[in-house]
Amino acid sequence: MKILVINCGSSSLKYQLIDSETEEWLAKGLCERIGIDGRIVYTPAGGEKEIKESPMPDHTNAIKLVLEYLTNDKTGVLKSLDEIGAVGHRIVHGGEKFASSVVINDEVIKAIEECNDLAPLHNPANLIGIDACRKLMPTTPMVAVFDTAFHQTMPEKAYLYGLPNSYYEKYKIRRYGFHGTSHSYVSKRCADVLGKKYEDLKIIVCHLGNGASVSAVKNGKCVDTSMGLTPLEGLIMGTRSGDLDPAILEFIAKKENLDITGVMNILNKKSGVYGMSGELSSDFRDLEDAHNAGNKLATQALEAFCYRTAKYVGAYVAAMNGVDAICFTAGIGENAGIVRSMVCEYLGYLGITVDEEKNKIRGEEVIFSTPDSKVKTLIIPTNEELAIARETVALVK
Ligand code: ADP
Repeated sequence: MKILVINCGSSSLKYQLIDSETEEWLAKGLCERIGIDGRIVYTPAGGEKEIKESPMPDHTNAIKLVLEYLTNDKTGVLKSLDEIGAVGHRIVHGGEKFASSVVINDEVIKAIEECNDLAPLHNPANLIGIDACRKLMPTTPMVAVFDTAFHQTMPEKAYLYGLPNSYYEKYKIRRYGFHGTSHSYVSKRCADVLGKKYEDLKIIVCHLGNGASVSAVKNGKCVDTSMGLTPLEGLIMGTRSGDLDPAILEFIAKKENLDITGVMNILNKKSGVYGMSGELSSDFRDLEDAHNAGNKLATQALEAFCYRTAKYVGAYVAAMNGVDAICFTAGIGENAGIVRSMVCEYLGYLGITVDEEKNKIRGEEVIFSTPDSKVKTLIIPTNEELAIARETVALVK
């Protein structure tokens, strides 16, 4: 079956067409600047990437264009839209309503709308994507796959904050966690690569991309994760601060004469390694170059990022009373050997030794700890689109 995977943001839309039998992508790309002017990027498997400015007044127009590219005579990969067996939509927040993926119907759409409060920037955009696809492919089944679902197995002690209970009761303020599709995919792959049963393992997944989070997966279930009510909590990220003393918000507001929106903007967009490096870059390739060239702020940012990550790993070893494997994934986790080795330096007490030759590998599945390491460390490239396609097939078959 051919599955169209859609990841819809407020002004952009990523798509991938996947053949569920071979698990290969047939075409992929991105629509950008929707509602502004519009640009489509389209790559058919084995073909050239095409980039074209094209008016996209709204998301329906953007998806219409994607469908045209998928079916056109020259670079299309489908004879007709009937070949698309189902559409899988990435949805950011499923609140407490969704602990797994679901087939989309009117009731599900209403329930996703009810989670809008929890992700005001993301969920409404995700819903627009669903609406646009339903208009253009009214008879094609669609599935919602939630970033939060995998983390719904966390126990209360992990998801409750030290706040008045009434806030949880009234507003559902709690830890939800994100990147769930990635944490689930990577932890399962880790068990396969190790040749062990998923249900028998204690796994820590470090998803280190622009957004970054760590999760603890015990016996096939997530028991804790570093992101919270929103994706701002936890690790130091590209531009997000991660954990900090909440009193800092008031302090910055007073000193910089900012309202709460202004402070949140600083924490989300001007902080993380970008802010720490003196606005040098949020990209780890730039930071690594600057660090090698002796830039002190870049070194500090890199060291703080790795130290924070290692502290979370340590916390999750405690949470699970042990660990069998630690996985690194996403842009930084898959590519930045320096980050993996700096994190693992803190973990010698677990009996981890890094094989520095293997740690040079980029973006491939590999166990990069030495064979005698008690705890295995692995690179597992994430594949959220494939995970969404698998979930979609499983529900519509
Ligand atoms: P997201 O999906 O959250 O936008 P990604 O998982 O694609 O993020 O990760 C993007 C980040 O990965 C980049 O900002 C960059 O810091 C890092 N990255 C990508 N390639 C490399 C590389 N070769 N070496 C070091 N870091 C890299």
